Amino acid sequence: MVDRVAFRTCPLCEAGCGLEIELTNKPDGTEEVKRIRGDQADVFSAGFICPKGSTLKHLHEDPDWLRQPHVKRDGQFVPVSWDEAFETVAAAVGPLMKEHGRDAVGVYLGNPNAHSLGPMFYNKGLLKSIASRNLFSASTVDQRPKEVSASMMFGSVAVPVPDLDRTDYLLMLGANPVASNGSLCTAPDFPGRIKRIQERGGKVIVVDPRRSETAGICDQHIAILPNGDSYLLAALAKLLFEKDQIGRLAEHTSGLEEFRERVAPFTPETVAERIGVDAATIRTLADELAAAPTAAVYGRIGTTCQEFGTLSSVLVDVVNLLTGNLDRVGGAMFTTHATGQASTKGEPGSGRGFRMGRTASRVSGTNAIFGEFPVTVMPEEIETPGEGQIRAMVTVGGNPVSSNPNTARIDAAFGSLQFMVSVDPYINETTRHADVILPPPSPLQKSHYDLALLQFGVRNIANYSPPVLPLEATQMEEGQIIRRLTAVFAGEAASGPEANAAADAIDDFTAAAVAGAATRDSFSNIAGRDTEEIVAATERKGSERLLDIALRTGPFGDGFDGDAGGITMDQLEAHPHGVDLGALDGERIPGILRTQSGTIELLNEHIEAELDRLTETISEDAPAMILFFSFALS
Ligand code: SF4
Repeated sequence: MVDRVAFRTCPLCEAGCGLEIELTNKPDGTEEVKRIRGDQADVFSAGFICPKGSTLKHLHEDPDWLRQPHVKRDGQFVPVSWDEAFETVAAAVGPLMKEHGRDAVGVYLGNPNAHSLGPMFYNKGLLKSIASRNLFSASTVDQRPKEVSASMMFGSVAVPVPDLDRTDYLLMLGANPVASNGSLCTAPDFPGRIKRIQERGGKVIVVDPRRSETAGICDQHIAILPNGDSYLLAALAKLLFEKDQIGRLAEHTSGLEEFRERVAPFTPETVAERIGVDAATIRTLADELAAAPTAAVYGRIGTTCQEFGTLSSVLVDVVNLLTGNLDRVGGAMFTTHATGQASTKGEPGSGRGFRMGRTASRVSGTNAIFGEFPVTVMPEEIETPGEGQIRAMVTVGGNPVSSNPNTARIDAAFGSLQFMVSVDPYINETTRHADVILPPPSPLQKSHYDLALLQFGVRNIANYSPPVLPLEATQMEEGQIIRRLTAVFAGEAASGPEANAAADAIDDFTAAAVAGAATRDSFSNIAGRDTEEIVAATERKGSERLLDIALRTGPFGDGFDGDAGGITMDQLEAHPHGVDLGALDGERIPGILRTQSGTIELLNEHIEAELDRLTETISEDAPAMILFFSFALS
C-alpha cells in the first residue's frame, strides 16, 4: 500500500532525472520508501531513469551512512555531538593556523558538491574563511580544459551544449553518454535523444579509440588513435575554412584569419597516419558537417583528458563556429540558466578576460586555474617541508584517495597530516585519515536544485525538490554544517547558541552576496535595485532563501514584483515535476560575451603556443602503444 508519493530530482549524475518515490507509513510514525521509478510527468526526463536512480532508497537505508558526527579517539571513530565535533575542529585548526599560517590548511572539494544545494551556495564562504591558497577540486581531473577554453573564447565559463533535440547531425568526440548519461551537457535519456536524431533522418557519429557503448548505437564509429582529436579537429577546421560558412558570427569573432593560417598545415593527408583515420573519412566528415541543415560537435572527457585537452576543447567550438552552427538552433547553443549566470556580470566587452599563471604552486610551480591547483599537485604540497606546507586538510565530498591519479601517494600524504576534517557520510579510503567526520544527510533528506548542472541543460528548465524524508535527531542540515564549519575557521564560536548565531550571520551575509551578484548581472531583472530590499522580500532561510533570490532575480524570475509573473520558489514548489522554460535560444552572442574585446577570441598566447606544438608534432609517428582508461564520467 502506498501512503504518499513524492517527487525528487536524482542527484547522482549530471542528467538530473525526475524520480517518483512511493512511501508507506510505519507503525512507529516514520515513513519508508517502498519504490522509486522514473517520474513520467517530469518536464525534462519524462520517466527516464537509469538503474542508479532507484538506489537512493538503499543509500538512505545504508547502515554505513553516518548519522552523526564522528571523532577519532585512539585510532577509532566514535560518535559525538555536533558541538563536540566542531569544538574538536576549532581546537586543532586554530593553533595550527596561528603557528603555520592559513596556507597550512588545504581544501579538497569533491564531485558531490556540484550536486548539492548547500555546498553550492555556502562553500564560497567556507573557502573565504579558510583563506588558503591550497585549494583542489575534482573538476581539475576531467573538465577543466573545457572551462578554460570557454573562458578564453567567450570570457566566461559559458560552455556551448549540443542542441540534441533539434540537430540533424551530431559528431561526438571522446564522449560515451550511453554509459555516463552525459557530462557538461545535461540531457536525461541521452541515448533516447540520439535515437530520435536518427528517427528524424539525422546522423550520429562517435570518434573514440574504443568501441564504446555509445559507438554501438551510433551510425558511424571512427576509431581514432588516442590523443588524435586535436589533429582531426584542426584538419576539419582547415577544410571548413575553405567552405566559408560562418555567417552572422564572423563580425563577432577576432583572430579568424590568423587561425585560418594556423590550421593550414593540417591537411587530411598530413594528419591521417598520425591519428589513424584516413584522409577520405576526414574529408567526408567535413563535407557532411557543412552540408547538414544543422550540426553540432560535442567533445567530452576523451578530448579534455589528453595532452592537448584545452586546444581540443577550443577546436570543438571553432568547428561549430566554422559550420555556422555555433549559437544557432540545432547547433551548439548556450543555456539560459534560471538562477542567472555568475559569469554574465556587466555588459558585453566589459569582461576582464581570462588570465592564467597568476598563482603558482609552492613546490612545482604549477599554475592555478580559477583559484584551484590540479589535484596531482596535492601530495607534493603535503609532503614537502617549508613555509606554506599543507599540514591539515578539509575535504568536502569526494574520495580523492580512491578517485584521483596516483592514489597510493595521496593515501600516504593524507596519512602524514596533523589534522583532517571531512564533510562526508562514509568512512572510506579518504576519510579514514580524518580526525573529524561531519556527515550530511542522505539525498532523500536534502532539498535539491541543480544549480551547477542546469547551466548545461539542452532545455531551459527549473526544478526544485524539497526533502522527501525528515532529519533524524542526530543529523544536521548540510548547509548548516558548512556554515558552522565556516564559523569555526573564521574564529567564531564552535558550539552553543553563539555558534548557531554565527551560522545565521553567515547565512544573512550569503543572501546579501547572492542578491548583490544579481544586481550586477546583465541578465538579471533587478539591475540597480537595493540589495537589502531584495533580501528582505523573502521570508525563507538557508539555501531556500538563496535559491528564491537567485530564481526571482534571474532571467525568468518575477523580479520580486508579484504582478510581473515569472519564476519563484513558491511556483516551483507548486510544480513538483519541474517548470519547462523552453528550448534554448539562438543568437545569444554577442550578449553573453565577456571577453575584453567583446568578441569570440580564437587566439591568445596559450592557444598559439599549443597550435605551434601541435604543428610540430603532425608528422611524428603515433606512439606504438598508449595506455588509456575508459571513464564512466564522459
Ligand atoms: S541517469 Fe543519472 S540522474 Fe538519471 S537516474 Fe541515473 S544516476 Fe540518476
